[in-house]
Amino acid sequence: MSTQTITREEAIAPYFIGVDVGGTSIKIGVVDDLGRTLAYTSFPTEGEKDTADAIRRITSVVRHLLDSSGLSISEVAGVGLGTPGPMDIKRGYILDPTNIPGWRHYPIRERLAEAIGKPVTYANDANAAAYGEYWVGTGKNHPSLVMITLGTGVGGGIIIGDLSVEGENSFGSEVGHIAVDYGPQARMCPCGQPGHLEAYASATAVIARTIEQIEAGRPCSLRDVLTKTGKLTGLQIAQAAEAGDELALDVILTTADYLARGIVILMHTIDPAAIVLGGAMNFGGSRHPLGQQFLKRVKEGVDRHTFPLLAQRIVIEYASLGGDAGYLGAAGLARAARKSAGN
Ligand SMILES: [Zn+2]
Repeated sequence: MSTQTITREEAIAPYFIGVDVGGTSIKIGVVDDLGRTLAYTSFPTEGEKDTADAIRRITSVVRHLLDSSGLSISEVAGVGLGTPGPMDIKRGYILDPTNIPGWRHYPIRERLAEAIGKPVTYANDANAAAYGEYWVGTGKNHPSLVMITLGTGVGGGIIIGDLSVEGENSFGSEVGHIAVDYGPQARMCPCGQPGHLEAYASATAVIARTIEQIEAGRPCSLRDVLTKTGKLTGLQIAQAAEAGDELALDVILTTADYLARGIVILMHTIDPAAIVLGGAMNFGGSRHPLGQQFLKRVKEGVDRHTFPLLAQRIVIEYASLGGDAGYLGAAGLARAARKSAGN
C-alpha cells in the first residue's frame, strides 16, 4: 500500500468516508474535502457471510479509522458506498452480485446509514472509481469523462459535471456490454449476448483469444506453458509480447482495436472531454513501452473512426489512482450529493 496520507492538521473539513466493496476485499478511506486521504485500510469481503455481518465489520473499521485520524463521527459529513451490480440504486438495494454470494436483495444503503449514523450515497463500484479519477485522478482537469475498466470483466463509469450517470434502472455506464461486433463470428459475452466489448477486451477474453490462436496452430512462445499448465495468464501474455512474441502482441493490439470501437460509440453518444482507461489490464500503463504501444493503437483506432475535431480534442489516458479510485470516488460522490442538497 503506497497511498499518500495527510495529517489532521493538513486536512480541510468536512470529511467523508468512502467504502469500496469488491468481490475479494472491502476498502475504506477517510477523505477530506479536497479528496486527500487521512487513513484507509482494506479487509476481506468474506462474501459468503451475510450482509448484516459485513455492515458490522464496516462500521467497526470506520470507527477505528476515525480514531486513528483524530476525528469524531460528528465531523463526518457523509458516507459513500460503492458495490458491484446488479443493484437498485434508487431503492438502495444490492441485488445479487455474482462474486458476493452471501449478499442478496439487501437494503444496504439504509442499513449502513443506520449503523454509522450518517447519510449514505450509493453507487456502482465502477461509477465510483470513475468519479474518483474525475475528482482527484487523471480526469481532474476535465469537466466530463468516461472511464473504461479493463479487468476480469469490462466495467465503466460516466461522469458529467458532478453527475454519475446511473440510468433509470441502475444499468447506466455498462460500457462492457456495448456491441462492437455484429458479425456471424461474434464472440459470446459472459452476459449471454454476442459481440459485446467485454467478450474482446477483458483480461479473460484476451487469454481466451490467445489460447484459441495457439490451438489453431499459430506459433507462440507460450505454447509449452499452455500445454504444461493447461492455462495462461494475462501477465504471461503481456510478457511474451514484450519479449517479441508476434501472436501475443497481435492479440493485445487487436484488443486495442476493439476497445477503440467501443470508445468511438461512447464519444458519439456523450462527447466526453476524456476517456480514462483503468483496471489491472493496462500493460504497465503510460510509463511502460507495451502500455504506450497499446494506448497509441487505441488512439489510432479512434482517429480512424471518429470526426476530425473529436479525434483532435479527445484525451485518452490511463487512470492514475489504481485501487484507491473506488473509495476516493465513493467519498467524492457523498460530497457531491451533499453539495447538490445545498449543505
Ligand atoms: Zn455483455
